[in-house]
Amino acid sequence: MYGQYHFILMEQRVLHTFEMLDGSYELECWEIGNGDPVCLLIAGIHGDEYLSMEIAEHVSDNLEPATGTVRIIPVANIFAAFRRARATPWPEFDSHESEERNLNRSFDAAKAADDPRELSLTAAVAYYILNEVETADYVIDMHTASWPDRKLPHGRIKVSESYDSDVVDAMEDLLQWSGLEHALKTDPAEIGSGVLSDIVPQLGTPAITLEIGGAGNYREEDWETYRTVIRNLLQGVGIKEGESVIGEPSIFHGLRTVYAPRSGTLEHVKELGDSVTKGDVIARVRDTTGTIIDTVEAPVAGVIEAVTQRDAVNRGNRVAKIAIE
Ligand SMILES: [Zn+2]
Repeated sequence: MYGQYHFILMEQRVLHTFEMLDGSYELECWEIGNGDPVCLLIAGIHGDEYLSMEIAEHVSDNLEPATGTVRIIPVANIFAAFRRARATPWPEFDSHESEERNLNRSFDAAKAADDPRELSLTAAVAYYILNEVETADYVIDMHTASWPDRKLPHGRIKVSESYDSDVVDAMEDLLQWSGLEHALKTDPAEIGSGVLSDIVPQLGTPAITLEIGGAGNYREEDWETYRTVIRNLLQGVGIKEGESVIGEPSIFHGLRTVYAPRSGTLEHVKELGDSVTKGDVIARVRDTTGTIIDTVEAPVAGVIEAVTQRDAVNRGNRVAKIAIE
């Protein structure tokens, strides 16, 4: 409205400055609003998942909390994002196996540590992030597909009998409040340790992981979906004004990866969200003359959760993932 000015006050904190041989890297946290509840948004745990980082920045520019605090770690793996990579580069500095340079496999080591200087570089980043988790009431872990995949928008929660029942109930609420139509609910032990969404509920804080969109490309619909889901969640936890959405997502309990049986050009038959039964053709592989030389079939029944954006595949490339009941 003309004549009205609006200022959103945002506090920017540096959680830690990493002094590296090639310069300084600052792990930042932005804070908007004050008081309870505190909702922590974490984006860029994988440095090539651009959409999550763009949405985090968008939220910081547009959010007006009615009550409570939104904290945003807009780029979690600063080292990976700077190099447009999924995981921390420089194995020569971070002398660990490649999965240990994946920030989302480093939170168990971070949780166990008293002194971050004893940790690998990647686990040290996890350590400073966990400091923020400890004072949060909710954690929203923002992901998108890594290149070359695109994902069916869905929420994920990990549920273990060892978790506090209030935390489990709150995570079920987060799934509903997200308004997403699909959800993956797994036991933490099945996915493996070190993942943020395994560790956060152990600390007594409910967490939801979002998987929306494709890496490395822009699609209006993915952007819109992501924005809407964050708005829904902030309304659900009571930070943003507005009625809570109560969705009823269809729940899946596992994922099955499907690989190309042969090299060639790829023709998709099934798209994201399509239901498949065992033996259904997901894609066809053609040679350079266009002749079909093989088909990629669903090994199990379920719903297509991810598809590759490659036009050509080598034998063994991931073609799709199927969410299974
Ligand atoms: Zn990710």
